[in-house]
Amino acid sequence: MIEMHIGFDDTDSPKGGCTTYIAALLVEKLDSMGASFVDYPNLVRLNPNVPWKTRGNGALCLRIRCPNNLVEKIIETTIEVIEENAELSCEETNPGIIFFFNKVPQEIRDFAKRTVQGVVEMEEALRLVKTFGAEAVSMKKGRGIIGGLAAIGENLNADYTYEVIAYRTPENRGTTRRIRALSVKEMDEKTFPLTFNNIDPGTSRILITPRGPDPILYGIRGENPEVVKQAHEMVLQEESVERWVIFRTNHGTDAHLRKITSISEIQPYTPVVVRGIVAKEPKVIQGGHVILSIKDKTATVDCAAYEPTGILCETSKNLIVGDFVEAHGGVRPASTRHSITINLEKMRILELARKITLLNPICSDCGKRMKSMGKTKGFRCEKCGFRASQLKKTAVETNRKLKRRLYITSPRSQRHLTKPLCRYGREKSNAPKRTIKGWHFP
Ligand SMILES: [Zn+2]
Repeated sequence: MIEMHIGFDDTDSPKGGCTTYIAALLVEKLDSMGASFVDYPNLVRLNPNVPWKTRGNGALCLRIRCPNNLVEKIIETTIEVIEENAELSCEETNPGIIFFFNKVPQEIRDFAKRTVQGVVEMEEALRLVKTFGAEAVSMKKGRGIIGGLAAIGENLNADYTYEVIAYRTPENRGTTRRIRALSVKEMDEKTFPLTFNNIDPGTSRILITPRGPDPILYGIRGENPEVVKQAHEMVLQEESVERWVIFRTNHGTDAHLRKITSISEIQPYTPVVVRGIVAKEPKVIQGGHVILSIKDKTATVDCAAYEPTGILCETSKNLIVGDFVEAHGGVRPASTRHSITINLEKMRILELARKITLLNPICSDCGKRMKSMGKTKGFRCEKCGFRASQLKKTAVETNRKLKRRLYITSPRSQRHLTKPLCRYGREKSNAPKRTIKGWHFP
């Protein structure tokens, strides 16, 4: 028997296809050939901020054990299935497949971490493939080699979640997805917070169904395989499900965010967590987005809270100069129109500055707040007519609407990797020992 890891990526295009669907096809095929799965298929989301990602930037790894004499047949079948199902006609689709045998070395684990948190080069992937005797198959430009190798190296041992994905039959793809909305609501009520991001609380929009032409009917995310399977059984479908699979993933784990200690360390395309003091009044720009500037001893950086981030946008608007915050998000490089910017996914308010407002004095006769008669001309009470030329404005401390806590973008605008609030305290630290019975169909 031999242990085999099959990693692949970059098979889909904005017009269709889906790397997870190819994984689902392979699960059925390899299972029937006699391979045994040592883990759920791993769905590894890579750095969402790289400029050349396809759609969700998700790579796949299948981990199996099989008799040595089956290896050649498995390699052949995998290549065949990927060739048949990848969106090869799309210019931006450049699949890559890696076959790796036995224990995955630390160097490939490190490479995986950098692929999730930063930017890596093709040459490095190819060098690792060569050094460790992996087999690589590239189609067209083979950019998927990077993701395929990263999916093999990411063992999801730190924190992870599950997602059950149900797929549509070919004749329904591209049409409106038909599932009973009420059943999703009931499923959410019964299984939250062990499942998460089923429904957007602000808009009541169902989030489990994607919108594109891909073959996914829906995906339900959760903390364990039992609960996502149970949730899947609660959803009433009004179209047939061709197949479904439970994946183990880094969804909802913040795996992409890297803590850095100073603003000057910020690099384009590299998601960060960094602290700073609000340096300027936040600015609301066209579209309702908010631009915030934070600084520390080393540098200043802009942060953007986009309108769809909901609570995050509202929160940013109410920050004032002197507030101490921790910004979490992807980094957009500078352009002619803006400087290097952190696109906020989360923000933790660490300290709130005191907000002092200058108000007109109170009338000593009737207690109403007086009106200013112009600079240096003093104040007049509109109610009783009392005038005072010597009085000055008084400083009043106003209550801050904000709290010292973590604010997270609304579920509808969360990235695959963003850890939602309900997952804090549920982080895992060990991979599962075995899979549950019946984690895929057929
Ligand atoms: Zn008065």
